[in-house]
Amino acid sequence: MHKSTKAIHLGTLENRVYGEVSVPIFQTSTFAFPSAEAGAARFSGEQPGYIYTRMGNPTLKALEDNIAALENGFAGLATASGMAAISTVFLSLLSQGDHLLASSCLYGPTHVMLESELPRFGITTTFVDTTEVHNLEPALQPNTRMIYLETPTNPTLRITDIQRTAAVARRHGALVVVDNTFASPYVQRPLELGADLVVQSLTKSLNGHSDVIGGMIIVKEAELYKRIRKVLNLFGGTMDPHQAWLILRGVRTLPLRIERAQENAMKLAAFLSNHSKVIWTHYPGLADHPQHDLAKRQMDGYGAMLCFGVKNGLEGGRVLLNNLRLITLAVSLGGVESLIEHPASMTHASVPRAQREQVGILDELVRLSVGCEAYEDLRADLDQALNKIG
Ligand code: PLP
Repeated sequence: MHKSTKAIHLGTLENRVYGEVSVPIFQTSTFAFPSAEAGAARFSGEQPGYIYTRMGNPTLKALEDNIAALENGFAGLATASGMAAISTVFLSLLSQGDHLLASSCLYGPTHVMLESELPRFGITTTFVDTTEVHNLEPALQPNTRMIYLETPTNPTLRITDIQRTAAVARRHGALVVVDNTFASPYVQRPLELGADLVVQSLTKSLNGHSDVIGGMIIVKEAELYKRIRKVLNLFGGTMDPHQAWLILRGVRTLPLRIERAQENAMKLAAFLSNHSKVIWTHYPGLADHPQHDLAKRQMDGYGAMLCFGVKNGLEGGRVLLNNLRLITLAVSLGGVESLIEHPASMTHASVPRAQREQVGILDELVRLSVGCEAYEDLRADLDQALNKIG
Protein backbone atom coordinates (compact mmCIF):
# COMPACT_ATOMS: atom_id res chain seq x y z
CA MET A 1 0.00 0.00 0.00
CA HIS A 2 1.32 3.45 -0.89
CA LYS A 3 2.06 5.75 2.09
CA SER A 4 -0.81 8.14 1.19
CA THR A 5 -3.28 5.24 1.26
CA LYS A 6 -1.85 3.93 4.55
CA ALA A 7 -2.33 7.34 6.18
CA ILE A 8 -6.02 7.33 5.23
CA HIS A 9 -7.01 3.71 5.87
CA LEU A 10 -4.74 1.93 8.31
CA GLY A 11 -5.93 1.64 11.86
CA THR A 12 -9.53 1.64 10.61
CA LEU A 13 -9.79 -1.12 8.00
CA GLU A 14 -8.47 -3.86 10.25
CA ASN A 15 -10.22 -2.71 13.44
CA ARG A 16 -13.84 -2.18 12.22
CA VAL A 17 -16.56 -3.47 14.54
CA TYR A 18 -19.86 -2.21 13.03
CA GLY A 19 -18.60 -1.04 9.64
CA GLU A 20 -17.87 2.42 11.00
CA VAL A 21 -15.83 4.63 8.67
CA SER A 22 -14.37 6.83 11.39
CA VAL A 23 -12.69 5.12 14.34
CA PRO A 24 -14.93 5.36 17.44
CA ILE A 25 -13.61 7.05 20.58
CA PHE A 26 -13.58 4.33 23.23
CA GLN A 27 -13.77 6.82 26.08
CA THR A 28 -13.57 4.29 28.86
CA SER A 29 -10.95 3.83 31.55
CA THR A 30 -11.70 0.14 32.07
CA PHE A 31 -13.19 -2.87 30.22
CA ALA A 32 -15.71 -5.39 31.62
CA PHE A 33 -14.66 -9.06 31.64
CA PRO A 34 -17.27 -11.60 30.52
CA SER A 35 -16.30 -13.88 33.44
CA ALA A 36 -13.82 -14.17 36.30
CA GLU A 37 -11.93 -16.78 34.27
CA ALA A 38 -11.74 -14.47 31.23
CA GLY A 39 -10.44 -11.61 33.42
CA ALA A 40 -7.70 -13.84 34.81
CA ALA A 41 -6.86 -15.07 31.30
CA ARG A 42 -6.50 -11.53 30.01
CA PHE A 43 -4.18 -10.65 32.88
CA SER A 44 -2.06 -13.75 32.34
CA GLY A 45 -1.88 -13.05 28.60
CA GLU A 46 -3.55 -16.37 27.69
CA GLN A 47 -6.49 -14.55 26.11
CA PRO A 48 -6.41 -11.33 24.11
CA GLY A 49 -8.67 -8.47 25.19
CA TYR A 50 -8.56 -5.07 26.77
CA ILE A 51 -8.21 -4.60 30.54
CA TYR A 52 -7.60 -0.95 31.41
CA THR A 53 -6.85 2.03 29.15
CA ARG A 54 -3.37 2.71 30.55
CA MET A 55 -2.51 -0.78 29.30
CA GLY A 56 -4.27 -0.50 25.92
CA ASN A 57 -7.45 0.79 24.27
CA PRO A 58 -8.96 0.24 20.78
CA THR A 59 -8.74 3.95 19.81
CA LEU A 60 -5.10 4.05 20.85
CA LYS A 61 -4.54 0.79 18.96
CA ALA A 62 -5.96 2.32 15.76
CA LEU A 63 -3.52 5.23 16.00
CA GLU A 64 -0.62 2.93 16.92
CA ASP A 65 -1.36 0.66 13.95
CA ASN A 66 -1.61 3.60 11.60
CA ILE A 67 1.66 5.25 12.57
CA ALA A 68 3.56 1.95 12.89
CA ALA A 69 2.49 1.21 9.31
CA LEU A 70 3.61 4.65 8.11
CA GLU A 71 7.01 4.14 9.76
CA ASN A 72 7.18 0.53 8.50
CA GLY A 73 7.68 -0.68 12.06
CA PHE A 74 6.58 -3.73 14.02
CA ALA A 75 4.30 -1.77 16.38
CA GLY A 76 3.69 1.64 17.93
CA LEU A 77 3.18 2.76 21.51
CA ALA A 78 1.14 5.92 22.01
CA THR A 79 2.37 8.29 24.72
CA ALA A 80 1.09 11.43 26.42
CA SER A 81 3.60 13.67 24.61
CA GLY A 82 6.74 13.52 22.48
CA MET A 83 8.82 13.94 25.66
CA ALA A 84 6.97 11.00 27.25
CA ALA A 85 7.95 8.89 24.22
CA ILE A 86 11.60 9.95 24.56
CA SER A 87 11.83 9.45 28.34
CA THR A 88 10.04 6.10 28.12
CA VAL A 89 12.61 4.85 25.58
CA PHE A 90 15.49 5.84 27.87
CA LEU A 91 13.88 4.48 31.04
CA SER A 92 12.95 1.20 29.32
CA LEU A 93 16.24 0.39 27.62
CA LEU A 94 19.01 1.98 29.72
CA SER A 95 20.24 1.09 33.21
CA GLN A 96 22.64 2.46 35.76
CA GLY A 97 26.18 2.52 34.35
CA ASP A 98 25.03 2.73 30.71
CA HIS A 99 26.29 5.34 28.28
CA LEU A 100 24.79 6.81 25.14
CA LEU A 101 25.93 8.95 22.24
CA ALA A 102 23.60 11.71 21.14
CA SER A 103 23.57 14.34 18.40
CA SER A 104 25.08 17.56 19.72
CA CYS A 105 22.15 19.52 18.28
CA LEU A 106 18.86 18.33 19.79
CA TYR A 107 15.49 19.70 20.83
CA GLY A 108 16.35 21.71 24.00
CA PRO A 109 14.40 19.65 26.58
CA THR A 110 15.84 16.38 25.17
CA HIS A 111 19.33 17.83 25.58
CA VAL A 112 18.58 18.86 29.17
CA MET A 113 17.04 15.46 30.00
CA LEU A 114 20.20 13.70 28.81
CA GLU A 115 22.63 16.15 30.33
CA SER A 116 21.04 16.92 33.70
CA GLU A 117 18.38 14.33 34.56
CA LEU A 118 19.60 10.92 33.35
CA PRO A 119 22.95 11.23 35.25
CA ARG A 120 20.85 11.07 38.46
CA PHE A 121 20.17 7.44 37.45
CA GLY A 122 23.81 6.75 36.52
CA ILE A 123 23.19 7.10 32.76
CA THR A 124 25.67 9.36 30.96
CA THR A 125 25.72 10.92 27.50
CA THR A 126 28.46 12.10 25.18
CA PHE A 127 27.22 14.66 22.65
CA VAL A 128 28.85 14.38 19.23
CA ASP A 129 28.38 15.99 15.87
CA THR A 130 26.68 12.96 14.32
CA THR A 131 26.50 14.64 10.90
CA GLU A 132 30.14 13.50 10.59
CA VAL A 133 29.84 9.73 11.02
CA HIS A 134 33.59 9.37 11.69
CA ASN A 135 33.00 11.17 15.02
CA LEU A 136 31.02 8.19 16.36
CA GLU A 137 33.61 5.45 16.65
CA PRO A 138 36.11 7.39 18.87
CA ALA A 139 33.30 8.46 21.23
CA LEU A 140 32.01 4.90 21.81
CA GLN A 141 32.69 3.36 25.22
CA PRO A 142 32.42 -0.30 26.24
CA ASN A 143 29.13 0.57 28.01
CA THR A 144 27.59 2.55 25.09
CA ARG A 145 24.13 1.04 24.64
CA MET A 146 22.43 3.57 22.40
CA ILE A 147 23.01 6.19 19.71
CA TYR A 148 20.30 8.85 19.77
CA LEU A 149 19.82 11.00 16.67
CA GLU A 150 17.71 13.88 15.49
CA THR A 151 17.79 14.27 11.75
CA PRO A 152 17.09 16.84 10.45
CA THR A 153 18.21 18.57 13.62
CA ASN A 154 16.03 21.06 15.46
CA PRO A 155 16.56 23.92 14.64
CA THR A 156 19.67 23.83 12.42
CA LEU A 157 18.36 21.39 9.75
CA ARG A 158 21.57 19.34 9.64
CA ILE A 159 21.31 15.75 8.40
CA THR A 160 22.88 12.59 9.85
CA ASP A 161 23.40 9.48 7.73
CA ILE A 162 21.12 6.95 9.46
CA GLN A 163 22.35 3.94 7.47
CA ARG A 164 26.03 4.53 8.26
CA THR A 165 25.25 5.32 11.91
CA ALA A 166 23.29 2.07 12.19
CA ALA A 167 26.27 0.15 10.77
CA VAL A 168 28.57 1.61 13.47
CA ALA A 169 25.99 0.85 16.18
CA ARG A 170 25.51 -2.74 14.99
CA ARG A 171 29.25 -3.44 15.12
CA HIS A 172 29.21 -2.21 18.72
CA GLY A 173 25.93 -3.86 19.79
CA ALA A 174 24.22 -0.50 20.45
CA LEU A 175 20.65 0.50 19.54
CA VAL A 176 19.87 3.40 17.22
CA VAL A 177 16.96 5.68 18.15
CA VAL A 178 15.86 8.46 15.78
CA ASP A 179 13.62 11.39 16.67
CA ASN A 180 11.76 11.61 13.36
CA THR A 181 9.54 14.55 14.35
CA PHE A 182 10.99 17.11 11.93
CA ALA A 183 10.63 14.89 8.86
CA SER A 184 7.53 12.76 9.74
CA PRO A 185 7.23 9.23 8.32
CA TYR A 186 5.84 10.69 5.11
CA VAL A 187 9.30 12.15 4.38
CA GLN A 188 11.69 9.76 6.18
CA ARG A 189 11.48 6.23 7.60
CA PRO A 190 14.52 5.56 9.81
CA LEU A 191 13.57 1.92 10.51
CA GLU A 192 14.01 1.16 6.79
CA LEU A 193 17.52 2.60 7.08
CA GLY A 194 18.60 0.39 10.00
CA ALA A 195 17.37 2.27 13.10
CA ASP A 196 15.85 0.16 15.89
CA LEU A 197 13.37 2.69 17.27
CA VAL A 198 11.72 5.91 16.19
CA VAL A 199 10.21 8.53 18.48
CA GLN A 200 7.72 11.08 17.26
CA SER A 201 6.12 14.13 18.77
CA LEU A 202 2.62 13.65 17.31
CA THR A 203 1.95 17.20 18.44
CA LYS A 204 3.63 18.29 15.22
CA SER A 205 2.91 17.32 11.60
CA LEU A 206 1.23 13.96 12.28
CA ASN A 207 -1.60 15.74 14.10
CA GLY A 208 -1.01 18.84 12.03
CA HIS A 209 -3.53 21.24 13.57
CA SER A 210 -1.71 22.69 16.61
CA ASP A 211 -4.44 21.50 18.97
CA VAL A 212 -3.21 18.29 20.64
CA ILE A 213 -0.09 17.09 22.50
CA GLY A 214 0.93 13.49 21.89
CA GLY A 215 3.81 11.13 21.16
CA MET A 216 4.62 7.71 19.75
CA ILE A 217 7.41 5.14 20.00
CA ILE A 218 7.70 2.90 16.94
CA VAL A 219 9.79 -0.25 17.30
CA LYS A 220 11.40 -2.58 14.81
CA GLU A 221 10.73 -5.87 16.55
CA ALA A 222 8.70 -7.76 19.16
CA GLU A 223 11.24 -7.92 22.00
CA LEU A 224 11.62 -4.14 22.08
CA TYR A 225 7.83 -3.80 21.99
CA LYS A 226 7.37 -6.12 24.98
CA ARG A 227 10.01 -4.37 27.07
CA ILE A 228 8.73 -0.85 26.35
CA ARG A 229 5.06 -1.80 26.73
CA LYS A 230 5.83 -3.09 30.23
CA VAL A 231 7.66 0.07 31.30
CA LEU A 232 5.08 2.39 29.71
CA ASN A 233 2.26 0.55 31.54
CA LEU A 234 4.18 0.84 34.82
CA PHE A 235 5.37 4.45 34.53
CA GLY A 236 2.09 5.60 33.03
CA GLY A 237 3.02 8.16 30.36
CA THR A 238 0.17 6.91 28.15
CA MET A 239 -2.29 8.70 25.88
CA ASP A 240 -5.99 9.40 26.33
CA PRO A 241 -8.48 7.97 23.75
CA HIS A 242 -9.85 11.37 22.79
CA GLN A 243 -6.31 12.66 22.17
CA ALA A 244 -5.66 9.58 19.97
CA TRP A 245 -8.85 10.12 17.97
CA LEU A 246 -8.00 13.75 17.21
CA ILE A 247 -4.49 12.81 16.10
CA LEU A 248 -5.83 10.01 13.91
CA ARG A 249 -8.15 12.51 12.26
CA GLY A 250 -5.14 14.73 11.57
CA VAL A 251 -3.03 11.88 10.16
CA ARG A 252 -5.60 11.24 7.41
CA THR A 253 -4.53 14.44 5.66
CA LEU A 254 -0.79 14.15 6.41
CA PRO A 255 0.14 13.45 2.76
CA LEU A 256 -1.82 16.44 1.42
CA ARG A 257 -0.51 18.78 4.13
CA ILE A 258 3.12 17.72 3.77
CA GLU A 259 3.08 17.93 -0.02
CA ARG A 260 1.70 21.45 0.12
CA ALA A 261 3.90 22.63 3.01
CA GLN A 262 7.13 21.31 1.53
CA GLU A 263 6.34 22.88 -1.82
CA ASN A 264 5.91 26.20 0.02
CA ALA A 265 9.12 25.57 2.01
CA MET A 266 11.18 24.96 -1.12
CA LYS A 267 9.93 28.21 -2.70
CA LEU A 268 10.42 30.20 0.52
CA ALA A 269 13.95 28.83 0.99
CA ALA A 270 14.83 30.05 -2.51
CA PHE A 271 13.21 33.43 -1.82
CA LEU A 272 15.02 33.87 1.52
CA SER A 273 18.40 32.84 0.05
CA ASN A 274 18.18 35.84 -2.27
CA HIS A 275 16.82 38.38 0.24
CA SER A 276 19.11 41.30 1.12
CA LYS A 277 18.23 41.11 4.87
CA VAL A 278 18.98 37.38 5.12
CA ILE A 279 22.60 36.25 5.65
CA TRP A 280 22.12 32.52 5.13
CA THR A 281 19.31 29.97 4.74
CA HIS A 282 19.40 26.30 5.79
CA TYR A 283 16.96 23.99 4.02
CA PRO A 284 17.91 20.43 2.99
CA GLY A 285 16.32 21.01 -0.42
CA LEU A 286 18.74 23.81 -1.35
CA ALA A 287 21.65 22.67 -3.51
CA ASP A 288 24.09 24.56 -1.24
CA HIS A 289 22.97 22.70 1.92
CA PRO A 290 26.06 20.75 3.11
CA GLN A 291 24.15 17.45 3.24
CA HIS A 292 21.86 18.03 0.25
CA ASP A 293 22.93 14.81 -1.51
CA LEU A 294 22.45 12.76 1.65
CA ALA A 295 19.00 14.33 2.19
CA LYS A 296 18.10 13.41 -1.39
CA ARG A 297 19.07 9.76 -0.76
CA GLN A 298 17.67 9.38 2.74
CA MET A 299 14.44 11.39 2.55
CA ASP A 300 11.37 11.39 0.27
CA GLY A 301 11.33 15.17 0.02
CA TYR A 302 12.86 17.83 2.24
CA GLY A 303 10.17 18.59 4.82
CA ALA A 304 8.59 21.87 5.79
CA MET A 305 11.10 23.24 8.31
CA LEU A 306 13.76 25.78 7.53
CA CYS A 307 15.93 28.26 9.38
CA PHE A 308 17.75 31.40 8.36
CA GLY A 309 20.04 34.06 9.77
CA VAL A 310 18.94 37.69 9.66
CA LYS A 311 21.03 40.86 9.53
CA ASN A 312 21.58 42.70 12.86
CA GLY A 313 21.50 39.49 14.96
CA LEU A 314 19.06 39.37 17.86
CA GLU A 315 17.71 42.84 17.14
CA GLY A 316 17.10 41.97 13.47
CA GLY A 317 15.25 38.83 14.58
CA ARG A 318 13.08 40.88 16.98
CA VAL A 319 12.15 43.32 14.24
CA LEU A 320 11.20 40.46 11.92
CA LEU A 321 9.12 38.57 14.51
CA ASN A 322 7.33 41.68 15.77
CA ASN A 323 6.35 42.84 12.29
CA LEU A 324 4.89 39.66 10.79
CA ARG A 325 1.13 39.89 10.28
CA LEU A 326 0.21 36.44 9.00
CA ILE A 327 2.96 34.08 10.13
CA THR A 328 2.34 33.42 13.82
CA LEU A 329 5.02 33.96 16.47
CA ALA A 330 4.82 30.69 18.39
CA VAL A 331 6.92 27.63 19.16
CA SER A 332 5.91 24.18 17.89
CA LEU A 333 5.77 23.17 14.25
CA GLY A 334 4.08 21.01 11.65
CA GLY A 335 0.65 22.68 11.76
CA VAL A 336 -1.35 23.88 8.76
CA GLU A 337 -0.49 27.44 9.82
CA SER A 338 3.06 28.79 9.48
CA LEU A 339 4.82 29.40 12.81
CA ILE A 340 8.03 31.29 13.45
CA GLU A 341 10.25 31.46 16.54
CA HIS A 342 13.67 32.43 17.87
CA PRO A 343 15.38 29.25 19.21
CA ALA A 344 18.19 30.95 21.20
CA SER A 345 15.67 32.76 23.42
CA MET A 346 12.79 30.25 23.21
CA THR A 347 12.94 26.48 22.40
CA HIS A 348 16.69 26.19 23.02
CA ALA A 349 17.13 28.82 25.77
CA SER A 350 17.67 25.96 28.26
CA VAL A 351 20.88 24.96 26.43
CA PRO A 352 23.89 27.01 27.64
CA ARG A 353 24.97 29.73 25.16
CA ALA A 354 28.44 28.26 24.48
CA GLN A 355 26.91 24.86 23.61
CA ARG A 356 24.22 26.51 21.50
CA GLU A 357 26.71 28.52 19.50
CA GLN A 358 28.99 25.53 19.00
CA VAL A 359 26.19 23.75 17.12
CA GLY A 360 25.10 26.82 15.16
CA ILE A 361 22.14 28.07 17.22
CA LEU A 362 23.20 31.69 16.88
CA ASP A 363 21.27 34.78 18.01
CA GLU A 364 20.63 35.62 14.34
CA LEU A 365 18.90 32.26 13.69
CA VAL A 366 15.14 32.26 13.13
CA ARG A 367 13.19 28.99 12.72
CA LEU A 368 10.21 28.78 10.38
CA SER A 369 7.65 25.96 10.28
CA VAL A 370 6.07 26.36 6.87
CA GLY A 371 2.33 25.74 6.69
CA CYS A 372 -0.22 25.21 3.93
CA GLU A 373 -1.20 28.82 3.17
CA ALA A 374 -0.78 30.28 -0.33
CA TYR A 375 2.92 30.76 -1.02
CA GLU A 376 2.40 34.33 -2.25
CA ASP A 377 0.87 35.39 1.10
CA LEU A 378 3.75 33.86 3.08
CA ARG A 379 6.38 35.44 0.83
CA ALA A 380 4.73 38.87 1.01
CA ASP A 381 4.48 38.71 4.82
CA LEU A 382 8.14 37.73 5.24
CA ASP A 383 9.25 40.33 2.70
CA GLN A 384 7.47 43.27 4.36
CA ALA A 385 8.74 42.29 7.86
CA LEU A 386 12.33 41.60 6.71
CA ASN A 387 12.42 44.99 4.99
CA LYS A 388 11.83 46.68 8.37
CA ILE A 389 15.24 45.42 9.57
CA GLY A 390 17.56 48.41 9.52
N1 PLP B 1 11.27 16.26 19.49
C1 PLP B 1 11.32 17.34 18.70
C2 PLP B 1 12.26 17.36 17.52
C3 PLP B 1 10.51 18.46 18.99
O1 PLP B 1 10.59 19.55 18.20
C4 PLP B 1 9.64 18.41 20.12
C5 PLP B 1 8.79 19.57 20.46
O2 PLP B 1 8.90 20.64 19.92
C6 PLP B 1 9.63 17.26 20.90
C7 PLP B 1 10.44 16.20 20.55
C8 PLP B 1 8.76 17.16 22.12
O3 PLP B 1 7.44 16.91 21.80
P1 PLP B 1 6.19 17.25 22.76
O4 PLP B 1 6.12 18.72 22.87
O5 PLP B 1 5.04 16.61 22.06
O6 PLP B 1 6.46 16.62 24.09
